[in-house]
Amino acid sequence: MTKKSGLEKIVSFCKRRGFVFPSSEIYGGLAAIYDYGHYGTILKNNIRDAWWKHMVQFRDDIYGLDSAIFMHPTTWVASGHVEGFDDPQVDCLDCKQRMRADHILEEFGVDADKASIDFVNDELNKLKKDEKVKCVNCGSKKLTPARQFSLMIKSNLGSPVDVLSEENVIYLRPETCGGIYLEYKNVMDSVHPKLPFGIAQVGKAFRNEIVARQFVFRTREFEQMEMQYFLHPDKMDEKYEMWKDLRWKWYLEYGIPQEKLKWYKHEVLSHYASQAYDIEFDFECLGGFKEVEGIHTRGDWDLSQHSKHSGVDLMYTDEKTDEKFTPHIMETSAGLNRVFLMFLDNALTEEEVEGEKRTVLKIDKRLAPIKVAVFPLLKNKEDLTGKAREIYDSLKKLWMCEYDVSGSIGKRYRRQDEIGTPYCVTVDFDSLSDNSVTIRDRDTMKQERVKVAELKNYLTERLDEK
Ligand code: ATP
Repeated sequence: MTKKSGLEKIVSFCKRRGFVFPSSEIYGGLAAIYDYGHYGTILKNNIRDAWWKHMVQFRDDIYGLDSAIFMHPTTWVASGHVEGFDDPQVDCLDCKQRMRADHILEEFGVDADKASIDFVNDELNKLKKDEKVKCVNCGSKKLTPARQFSLMIKSNLGSPVDVLSEENVIYLRPETCGGIYLEYKNVMDSVHPKLPFGIAQVGKAFRNEIVARQFVFRTREFEQMEMQYFLHPDKMDEKYEMWKDLRWKWYLEYGIPQEKLKWYKHEVLSHYASQAYDIEFDFECLGGFKEVEGIHTRGDWDLSQHSKHSGVDLMYTDEKTDEKFTPHIMETSAGLNRVFLMFLDNALTEEEVEGEKRTVLKIDKRLAPIKVAVFPLLKNKEDLTGKAREIYDSLKKLWMCEYDVSGSIGKRYRRQDEIGTPYCVTVDFDSLSDNSVTIRDRDTMKQERVKVAELKNYLTERLDEK
């Protein structure tokens, strides 16, 4: 059994099978923006739902939120984004290629993640002296010094386009958690939770990334699944460890092998953070471990800043002790599109079956876009198609199903294997007399005969969350 490798293979698979398309393709495309097709949308929704179940539905201390993308502009002044949400950019003087200076340094083993621009330029200059730094595109050694490039994207919401200025600017949110901090008070006043508790949301975020050439791993429009946990500072260490453990286990629960995950500890921390770890996945298509989720402490920075800038009291009073304090926050922040790419990278497999190549998406059944495909053995026998359609119509009320009549059964199996469909149900001539169907399992390829009356129980047992 071999794994498909290389980003190109995943990109072409995603396009060919309707998972992901380059956006605006008929106009030549738009860099670092992608659209999700039928199977991609369902897979992404299933991943989102799996996250939501574990973060909200299965817990009683987390509340859901869906806040707006546009927020009051002061939000991003208070959070520090307007002042300093930047990445260091280097340009090639010959071919004009843009590069991220911290990524260049990373290649040489220098950790410059969130480092100051002076540190980045000092380290770059050391490497330049030895003529080690080259343009990733043309190999030229003529590179500009690093300069800060803001990742914030501006809009003219509510103002004419031509009067866009610093005074009337509105930003597209660069992370979803900003909305959570702003709604902290409304959640407190409406649901009255006691600390510790969390607010979770999934939504779009926008960053003007300097370079974004890694398919859906890094895009300028993406989705985050974030949870902010509010707590007394004394509880931080205990809860931080609890969340690290829970988030790690979530990946294992949905079939990511332990050896493909690792922790990355941030040595350079934001001034308000005491701990920051990322979960990294070993992407075969990207050639190594890359961040999929950050689990970070944020102290009382966010609520204090928003309280200062808005003039609204965001403190919490402990009913038992009467202590009044600003809650501290720790966050879990995963990129939905990165996690999507991770599941594809992990699951897309090529294997040989009786001398023939089989491509199969060995993805957790709960995440698979289509759960059941129903086939009549032949497409021009009404008895068979009528019965198959009846079964399909009843199963599609419970799961995403497909009805397929074209080509041989073998070809139909292969098509479903590629998109990860766990079960194929075939109605044949025997079905007409014994009221049974053949169920074929995606992974084992074993076939079983099951009574139509038993079908729903059989599938529920195997497909649904336990
Ligand atoms: P990176 O170092 O890769 O730029 P980051 O540390 O800036 O990421 P965070 O601000 O911690 O990322 O965002 C939390 C999560 O959001 C990341 O772990 C990642 O999964 C996702 N994410 C961030 N930026 C992007 C992007 N441009 N495209 C897709 N996902 C992203």
